[in-house]
Amino acid sequence: MEVKFLLRCIECGNEYKAYKEVRYKCSCGGLLEVKHNLERLNGKKLKEAWEARWGIRNSVFSSGVWRYKELIADIPDDSIITKLEGNTRLYDSGPAGEYANLKKLKLKHEGENPTGSFKDRGMTSGISISKLLNAKTVACASTGNTSASMASYAAKAGYKSIIFIPSGKIAYGKLSQALAYGGKTLQIEGNFDDAMQLVQEVCSELNIYLLNSINPFRIEGQKAIGFEILQQLEWNVPDWFIIPGGNLGNNTALSKGLMELYSLGIINKIPRIAVIQARGANPLYEMWKNKTFFKPVKDPDTIATAIKIGNPVSWKKSIRGIEWTDGVVEEVTEQEIMDAKAKVDASGIGAEPASCCVVAGAKKLVEAGTISSDSSAVGILTGNMLKDPDATVNYHLGNLKQRGIDGKFKNAPENIKSDIESVKKAVKDII
Ligand SMILES: *Cc1c(COP(=O)(O)O)cnc(C)c1O
Ligand SMILES: [Zn+2]
Repeated sequence: MEVKFLLRCIECGNEYKAYKEVRYKCSCGGLLEVKHNLERLNGKKLKEAWEARWGIRNSVFSSGVWRYKELIADIPDDSIITKLEGNTRLYDSGPAGEYANLKKLKLKHEGENPTGSFKDRGMTSGISISKLLNAKTVACASTGNTSASMASYAAKAGYKSIIFIPSGKIAYGKLSQALAYGGKTLQIEGNFDDAMQLVQEVCSELNIYLLNSINPFRIEGQKAIGFEILQQLEWNVPDWFIIPGGNLGNNTALSKGLMELYSLGIINKIPRIAVIQARGANPLYEMWKNKTFFKPVKDPDTIATAIKIGNPVSWKKSIRGIEWTDGVVEEVTEQEIMDAKAKVDASGIGAEPASCCVVAGAKKLVEAGTISSDSSAVGILTGNMLKDPDATVNYHLGNLKQRGIDGKFKNAPENIKSDIESVKKAVKDII
């Protein structure tokens, strides 16, 4: 078939034809990215096409990823494996925005995707390309959400999936999905970074298709988060995007997509990107703040397990995107994450801990004067609240003391006798 895009090395610029061979890295070792032939595209026509597809039924264009097909992967419709992902809501942040002193903050809830996280956006593009490459088995290392997504999409495609997860410490909602969707789940000794290392060796040795975000096609699907937000905002560009950072694929995707829209004239301004990391897993923050070389964090630790990553594979792409967008990197503590989560949850929105770094980080950046409190901003809530019920319940029960987290905004259940007087006593403050 006609090759409409290339893979380009971000280090040496070497180019590879996208469907000729399975390749995740350049022969020089550099990361690869998809290079679209932007000259071939007309921004105005593209925007019109995307508008016309909004709300369309029974088509690949009903997907909030494939609606933007021209900038994702221009492949035949019959090779697309989709669960009509995306089309997630963009909420006013309410009390969560007030807490951050950023009233014009909106929250894009990617936890409303089919398997409960934004990972579905990159999975539909990654697995569809795997079909073109005739792969039948796919694999990933995961802190949980990638495995849940991959197992589901693999089941839909009729593929086998192999999942490498760090032993213990994976949130139950995510583990249950991986098992239930039928992924061959291997718990390895070691942390996510060890699992990531191992899965790369396994995939090249056993000829299995790798679906981590080192796979450049995953990044392409994830760009659609930004596209969809802008379309929901009638293409009015916010001042800021705020996003959590773990393996750093998602912020890479966001900045790449924005740069493409800008060079096509679809947007006329580049929003700044703020990447938020947990203090216990903050290699990008350390590098950015101290203007030093990248140094992995040895034993990453945070309650936000989705971003508990010490050696993120996409850090070079990520830092480049931060430079493009005049972005910033911030870190937040365990207490800040869980307090922000309590506010996101109590706003009636709800998200898993890693997602709530967005609100914790927004608060800090407003306090520091980096983000002015009358700015417009969109925070990306990456995962669903139900992914990690233990974190939520333990916070509200005040059971996170050993992590140094106090249940500051807790809403603990009360045990009462089953009579009307006891009820009256219990609710007297709220009625
Ligand atoms: C994967 C994930 C992240 C981190 O995204 P990266 O692309 O690895 O930086 C953040 N939050 C949730 C809920 C995730 O599943
Ligand atoms: Zn190279």
